[in-house]
Amino acid sequence: MNKDTTSDKSHYTILFAGGAFAALALAKRLVDHAKSYPFQLLIIEKSDSCNGLAYNINQSPYVTTNNPAKTCSIDASDENNFIDWSAKFGWPHSPDCYPPRYFFGKYLEHTLAKIISSASNKRIQFNYICGEEVVDCERQKDGSYLVYSQLKLEEKRIIYRANTVILATGNNKPNLPKFAKNLSPSRIVENTMTVVNQKKISAFDVDQNIAIIGSGFSAMDAMTIRFFEKIKPALDYAQNSASIRQQDIGKIYMISRRGLINYIPSEEPEISVNYTLSNQVCLTLVDTFFDSNKLIQLLNQEFRRGESLGYTKHQVVLALDNVLIELLEKLSSDSERHKFIKDYWTVLHAHQNELQEPSAKIFQLLEQEEILQVMEGHIKGNIHMEGEDVVIEFEENREPLKVDAVINTAGLEHSYEELVHQNALLTNLEKRGYISPHRKTNLGLEVNERYEAINRDGFSMPNLHPVGRLIEGEAIYKKFGLWFTGNSGIRSIRNMCAELAPIILQDIELKSNSVI
Ligand SMILES: Cc1cc2nc3c(=O)[nH]c(=O)nc-3n(C[C@H](O)[C@H](O)[C@H](O)COP(=O)(O)OP(=O)(O)OC[C@H]3O[C@@H](n4cnc5c(N)ncnc54)[C@H](O)[C@@H]3O)c2cc1C
Repeated sequence: MNKDTTSDKSHYTILFAGGAFAALALAKRLVDHAKSYPFQLLIIEKSDSCNGLAYNINQSPYVTTNNPAKTCSIDASDENNFIDWSAKFGWPHSPDCYPPRYFFGKYLEHTLAKIISSASNKRIQFNYICGEEVVDCERQKDGSYLVYSQLKLEEKRIIYRANTVILATGNNKPNLPKFAKNLSPSRIVENTMTVVNQKKISAFDVDQNIAIIGSGFSAMDAMTIRFFEKIKPALDYAQNSASIRQQDIGKIYMISRRGLINYIPSEEPEISVNYTLSNQVCLTLVDTFFDSNKLIQLLNQEFRRGESLGYTKHQVVLALDNVLIELLEKLSSDSERHKFIKDYWTVLHAHQNELQEPSAKIFQLLEQEEILQVMEGHIKGNIHMEGEDVVIEFEENREPLKVDAVINTAGLEHSYEELVHQNALLTNLEKRGYISPHRKTNLGLEVNERYEAINRDGFSMPNLHPVGRLIEGEAIYKKFGLWFTGNSGIRSIRNMCAELAPIILQDIELKSNSVI
């Protein structure tokens, strides 16, 4: 052992690498459901807080979560946990409102404090360390793991031993654009999924030049909203009146680092989902449970009604968002839910052409009219204000873009290679062959049904459990049998933790019985 390395004598039952949302969601379940056998739990977090990337408490109060308050509980078996907490801590809004992300960060801090206190009541040894980065992990002959961590402020390595290791490292920094402090909130829309922000998009004046960052689902939604709310009426009006000219319509610049390449899964999904549905519909579908018959009936009925009023099916689907949310209350069993999703997509499949057409048509029309310009490029530095303009600079050798407002829809997902490359621990686990890419999506790591990592040779790594955003591909595919990317948020992570906790507790119980 070199002289800068200390070996921690403590042997932990469970050691977490990463201590943000996923870690807390799992730790809470473990502590709440622990029986009488003793265990020692250690969470090692490399930053100085438990807020993770998403819920930093210093961010703007204008940035909200994608989830209404009523779905923000960290615990799947206690739906009101967040609402009850937020009422106590002075959030005056209804459960249907979207809480600011910084506020959710506060919730995580209070949740951690609560877990610590529950653990001490149950005599569980619970330690949470900040400022230390787990950099490697090595399986021993006896099945335990040696875990190597690095102190942030000192050149010192520490070695721990643990029976079970939880990889809760998230998926690292998303490649999101950065906004300068001087950028007025009225000039930027983040998170196109909230109704408030969609209204903000509708409110941009027709002559404003808008940059949409990203080219996925949400970008298409933003384009569609702007088209129907402002551009189409202006184009219609321009045909009949000289008072508005084509030139008076602002431009849309759609900026994408990958260009307009669709996400293509390596295998055919069970059901094709290439519809231009709004993201909100998809999220609602994936995240919630519905009464399938009622919804299909409603959908067909709405299509007929919409048609008779001269609306496209795409518009009808967008309008259905609110109705879908109303159906949240109805819980059904897994099989009912699965059946519903299949039925739902079957109905939509029958309307695929009509559904796809409007978005594609809008896209083509806007390009033809030279209102829409797609730009492939990487954004450099901060997006900032210069006088009245919002300025976007590029890595590529090209003039900065000056616009009136920015709609950011850039995705958060990383390929396995990008993910592994950014994190020393994952790089080392990859070198050891302990982890492998998610087979179907290449997003995050592959796990088995016990949430154990699958190694390079396709075998399970006992007691090595990746959780949270790190297994985003798996969470979505496994839960719903459908292809959605970038939706491994609060609800799916807490559900996965609810499934994993009893598996770990059962293992501990078995071990403690075998020792006795
Ligand atoms: C900007 C942003 C906004 C989001 N908004 C929403 C939203 O509104 N609603 C929603 O449902 N989801 C949202 N998400 C998704 C979000 O990723 C999940 O909701 C959830 O927070 C993921 O939790 P996690 O613990 O898996 O990952 P993270 O929150 O990323 O936490 C991982 C933690 O591990 C630590 N860590 C990493 N490597 C190591 C290491 N080697 N050793 C020790 N510590 C390590 C990191 O410092 C970090 O604190 C958002 C994500 C981002 C990036």
